Amino acid sequence: MYLPNYAVEAIRRMHDKGYRVYPVGGCIRNHIMGLVPDDYDMTTNAAPDEILDVFKDFTTFDAGLKHGTVSVVIDNNVIEITTHRIETSYTDNRHPDEVIFTTDLNEDLRRRDFTMNAIAYDYANESYLDPYNGIGDINNKLIRAVGDPAERFKEDGLRILRALRFSSVLGFDIEEQTSYAIHQCKELLYNISSERIYTEFTKLLCGRNARRVLADYYDVIAVFIPEILPMVGFDQQNPHHCFDVYEHTLATVESVEPEPILRWTMLLHDTGKPETFSRDEKGGHFFGHYKNSTEISRTVLSRLKASNDTINKVTALVYHHDSVIPETERSVRRLLMKLGYDMTLLLFKVNRADAKGQAPCQIEQRLSHIKCLEEITEKIISENECFSLKDMDISGNDIIGIGIAPGKRIGEILNILINEVIDGELENKKEALIKRARELK
Ligand code: ATP
Ligand code: MG
Repeated sequence: MYLPNYAVEAIRRMHDKGYRVYPVGGCIRNHIMGLVPDDYDMTTNAAPDEILDVFKDFTTFDAGLKHGTVSVVIDNNVIEITTHRIETSYTDNRHPDEVIFTTDLNEDLRRRDFTMNAIAYDYANESYLDPYNGIGDINNKLIRAVGDPAERFKEDGLRILRALRFSSVLGFDIEEQTSYAIHQCKELLYNISSERIYTEFTKLLCGRNARRVLADYYDVIAVFIPEILPMVGFDQQNPHHCFDVYEHTLATVESVEPEPILRWTMLLHDTGKPETFSRDEKGGHFFGHYKNSTEISRTVLSRLKASNDTINKVTALVYHHDSVIPETERSVRRLLMKLGYDMTLLLFKVNRADAKGQAPCQIEQRLSHIKCLEEITEKIISENECFSLKDMDISGNDIIGIGIAPGKRIGEILNILINEVIDGELENKKEALIKRARELK
């Protein structure tokens, strides 16, 4: 296996002091898959203070020392070196009760989650140490628990979500017994913190195999996002839709680029549909569902402790996802004023993914509409046309200058002015704006 110089240097220094050390985990998996590893984690029989001693002339970080991890900086690259560990009983299904260090590499490999992650590389002998046939599983694109899957999930429920995340990101299948245990043990995810769930699940959502994982394991996802359940199997009874709400949702998740804000938006954009369903002679309708979906999105993301920025962006996109935007400069300027340029472009991506998840007869027409809106947006931007208060050729101070007292009225006047500018009724020139402001005084 090829190792970069800084990794070889770390290994040599450990060997010179008589310790064993092995690259392990994700870097081996990536290498066997033909990918370039992004980092090289190592496992060693040296104790944490011995590792620190070997690298006393280097910058080291010991934030993970309790778990036996020393981070060493070599040529600006960070290598995490961890003492071989055994993890004992997990009474809370979350944290090992105590971390026991060991000098036995096999013990360390045994406590790892999946066979593909339980391979070490012996640099001196140029050979892999692969007691669970992880290489075979990687070649067969299979995720298989090390040992009894249910036992391993009981030790640490997060492993359930890690299996789904790896399946989505790597495009691997989950081996049958491991898959069975995931469904059986899904409720262990109740014990896992929201932050950890959010991080893993966001990676899952952005994986290339997300659609399949979300379809096959919706019952598992529903443990922490029960809001998806009403969508599953919900017949839209509408000729525009050839899928049930959940199938449509998954088609849109797959169609949008793998970026967290966009993927979360697609997952949640129609969550409000089931509760707004009505029917008439034309078929099923979901009037105002965007509002319900917006509230549900906020609830889900807040519960999972997403950042405020993520919550604000996703809820804004969900709120606007179903808006009808006429192909006029005026309506696009209004949209730009409400959302800003970057979010407007994201909304078009959401619209495009949404269109692709609908009945095929609609797609072409919808896509060309979105393309037209994008062209209008680019025209507005390239001509530097006004669309937000900061682009106006007048400020609050100018309005105070014509004799209006500072206060609420200033904002009201500015708002009237910007609306008239956007509608093309007023020129964005100081003189014209001041003149109009005087009329409104
Ligand atoms: P990537 O960093 O690409 O997500 P990785 O395999 O490096 O993948 P990490 O989360 O960095 O994943 O963990 C490093 C290694 O530690 C894993 O390969 C696995 O051997 C082990 N590991 C991590 N989390 C767990 C866990 N919850 N239970 C058991 N072993 C784990
Ligand atoms: Mg890693």
